[in-house]
Amino acid sequence: ELAAAANAPITDGALADGTLVPLLANLGTPSEAAQAVELGAEGVGLFRTELMFLDATTAPTVEEQTAEYTEMLKHFPGKKVVVRALDAGADKPLSFMDMGEEANPALGQRGLRSLRVNENILRDQLTALVNAQNATDADLWVMAPMVSDAEETDYFVSLGRELGLNTVGVMAEVPSLAVLADQVAERSDFVSIGSNDLTQYTLAADRMLGTLAKFQDPWHPAVLRLVKMIGAAGAAAGKPVGVCGEAAADPQLAVVLVGLGVTSLSMTPQALADVRAELKTVTLEQATVRAEAAINATTGPTAREAAANAS
Ligand code: PEP
Ligand code: MG
Repeated sequence: ELAAAANAPITDGALADGTLVPLLANLGTPSEAAQAVELGAEGVGLFRTELMFLDATTAPTVEEQTAEYTEMLKHFPGKKVVVRALDAGADKPLSFMDMGEEANPALGQRGLRSLRVNENILRDQLTALVNAQNATDADLWVMAPMVSDAEETDYFVSLGRELGLNTVGVMAEVPSLAVLADQVAERSDFVSIGSNDLTQYTLAADRMLGTLAKFQDPWHPAVLRLVKMIGAAGAAAGKPVGVCGEAAADPQLAVVLVGLGVTSLSMTPQALADVRAELKTVTLEQATVRAEAAINATTGPTAREAAANAS
């Protein structure tokens, strides 16, 4: 029986009522792509491009980047691949994008903020992504990290379109973006929630500090309510809303996220099977009931309990 289960064909992510919820992989290099496909990834929901360049002492050329992105996209013909623009800065230093020393790197020059003051690096990366888009059959989506409002959304989306990208979006990792999600969803082709940073900034607790680890809980109803606001804004504007933080890899929380209006989930490939199995056990209506129970709890742990007891 175990062997049969292991050999069963991997189906698309879906709820018990047939509602499709694409299940995607978080990847750092093209070398991880083949295994992700074996584990059932229906595409890529987060390609963390900075991981390829952590050791680089000079900025990678357009040609070098084109080769890497093309290699990644070739693993996913006809499938969605969401690439994140370099997420570097004081928190994740790259030697060719020196941001200097900061006392509070999590609140500093990072994500889109550092790309904007290094626009040549951003333009080179987007140009390489356009080359890869045009050289393969994958459905390339490109998004910016650490976007905080409509003005930054306009900046990134218009630059991406001007350079020739087909689908351009933003990550929701800063609470201000969630508060303004209606304005952002109008301007962006999609929104992808980075629940790790969204949790850190909502609870104002550095995600790297072990002493504050209990605050890094995406079940916290404050985080869930922001997710609901983003989901509602996406639905109103007709734009997809994904989650690509660790939250998507927790099967019980994955159900709640879908109940809050999230339309796709991206995670470490090892988590795909468990999330796929859990989603199959609930209808969208049941997921919504669990989500409502969770957002009405007062703490992360009680939100988890409330969701479990709701159906
Ligand atoms: C996140 O913040 O949830 C995210 C996906 O980005 P990273 O973990 O790379 O900051
Ligand atoms: Mg992040």
